[in-house]
Amino acid sequence: MATTRIPATTYSAALIAVVTVALAVSYSPLASRIDNYATDWMFFMHKPAPWQPESLILGIDDESYVQMGGVGHLREALAQGLNLIAQAKPKVVAIDVILADKGDEAQNALLAAALRNIGTVILPCEMGANKWEDPIALFQKASKAIGHVHATADDDDGVTRHIPLERAVGRDRRWALGFEAYLKAHNVKQLEESPDDLDADGVRIPVARDPGGRSLRIRFLPPTEDGNSQIPQLTLKQLLDDPSKAAMAKDKVVFVGATSQSTARDRYMTPYTMRRPMPGVEIHAQLYETLASKRFLADYRMHNGILLGLFLAIAAGTTFYLLSGWPAYLCGLAIITIAHLVPHTFFLNGIVFPYFAPVIISWLSVSTAATFAHFLTRSQLQTSESEKTRYQEAIHFVAHEMRSPLTAIQGSSELMTRYNMNDDKRKQMAQMINSESKRLGKMIQTFLDVERLSDGQMQLKKEPFDMRAILESCLARVAPLAERKQIEVTSQPAPAVKLLGDHELMEYAVYNLLNNAIKYSPGETHVTVGASLDGSVLRLSVKDEGIGMDEKELKQIFTKFYRTKKAQASGEAGTGIGLSIVQQIVTHHGGKMEVTSRPGLGSCFTMILPCEEIETCNASS
Ligand code: ADP
Repeated sequence: MATTRIPATTYSAALIAVVTVALAVSYSPLASRIDNYATDWMFFMHKPAPWQPESLILGIDDESYVQMGGVGHLREALAQGLNLIAQAKPKVVAIDVILADKGDEAQNALLAAALRNIGTVILPCEMGANKWEDPIALFQKASKAIGHVHATADDDDGVTRHIPLERAVGRDRRWALGFEAYLKAHNVKQLEESPDDLDADGVRIPVARDPGGRSLRIRFLPPTEDGNSQIPQLTLKQLLDDPSKAAMAKDKVVFVGATSQSTARDRYMTPYTMRRPMPGVEIHAQLYETLASKRFLADYRMHNGILLGLFLAIAAGTTFYLLSGWPAYLCGLAIITIAHLVPHTFFLNGIVFPYFAPVIISWLSVSTAATFAHFLTRSQLQTSESEKTRYQEAIHFVAHEMRSPLTAIQGSSELMTRYNMNDDKRKQMAQMINSESKRLGKMIQTFLDVERLSDGQMQLKKEPFDMRAILESCLARVAPLAERKQIEVTSQPAPAVKLLGDHELMEYAVYNLLNNAIKYSPGETHVTVGASLDGSVLRLSVKDEGIGMDEKELKQIFTKFYRTKKAQASGEAGTGIGLSIVQQIVTHHGGKMEVTSRPGLGSCFTMILPCEEIETCNASS
């Protein structure tokens, strides 16, 4: 199978590297921000079915302040309102109005009486520098419990998603106002604490003990379609104007606090109210609703997300190692989809699962594995394409080069069978068949050698040879062709040097240059062979007065299968392979080719070859 050739070590190293990067990013502030946004989005996507709120908000808004005659009259007005509410017999009244300052005695007395009138009242406290700022003793006496009124916003984006259930100043710990309201309204007798949760008379509240205390995610009631809170609201002014409205508080847990835009300093953004922050009193009512409806959202810690991510990364790695093509890509897509869906599924089951870590790990590992597989397939494809091309080239070459000796053998053997010939003629024909078949054999050997050389399978033969012998043999071989076109071939005697390499391959190269010079020249022209020594370098040139080439064509003539338009129009047979092989042979001999040419005026091909020995050697050696 193609994919089993993925280099396992590099592949796993690449996957481990991207997973490490993903892990590092998963612990960044960006990741926690994205986790928060993802959770907020799920809040919108999977809104809980509406439920009947158990709470009521008695808000002190701007108009209420105007009616009571300013903040200075708050306690008096509050007392009036609470007295009305008391008649409706609410379950609990939780007050989020700070009552720690001394205030006016007469007003305090009125308010204390109203608080006693209510029955179950929970009063607020705020954290001071080193102690709790509790309501004055008069009010405390009238209350059943005191709860803190702190809500915390997320450090990254300022949105309130959690509320600290407990807060401590030194060793003095207070529960949150909304939680105290729940404990009293539901008459909780026993509250058990464990590191992972709280147990309130059998109701498990998923708040693990963290260094910062226990924090509960609020399952905010989604706002109504016109953007209002689902928790019923009544303002103090409305209540005082129309006392019958107090009936709304019957059997309810009433949260009393400032809702005024100008005085409520504690307003918080929530996942549902980014533009219209929610007053602190409503945040506590929402906390109460989360507890009362038991719609808890537990937080799964980061390591769960990372474990899922690692599992998906291993799945991605294995998939692309074992599969290829569409099945692999489909599995990759499935892995990424799982990473996105798991947090949703958990959310539907009341668990906030880390989102960013599994998603980034799965995306990075799938894309790395897929990229690996893609480039591997591409390089395999390229290899097989180039193998195919090489094979075709070889076939062309064989067909082209072997045609002429075969034609000679075929013609001679036909003549011998068809006609009666005298012994001399028959002998001549037989010799011709013999020499041509030897040439064919040599050619096949040369071809195979060139193939093996370029494949790197064969070392170049390293034997000393004499260039003069090669030149003589090649000149003799092209003589009949030159004669037919009445081309005069003149040659300088080659210097007496020895070259090191493969005699047969070099003969092939020289013959090719001479053959081309005659092939691509009109009749009655000259071909000149020059040979000269330049230090220890032999320059062997073949110059013709033929069709020539322009600059652009010159750049391509060593490319396999390239033929100039003029060469094709000349009617001479050719494959465009010969020169590419010549260049390979010359390169293998440590030399290089130089070509000069002008269209219509002729070309000069020069082989520049290093010599092994410069000495007098005889042509026959
Ligand atoms: P072939 O001659 O079989 O086409 P070669 O590889 O030997 O293949 O040559 C490649 C091309 O280079 C030729 O087709 C021709 O266009 C050009 N060429 C080679 N030698 C000459 C020459 N002496 N004069 C002009 N063009 C040449």
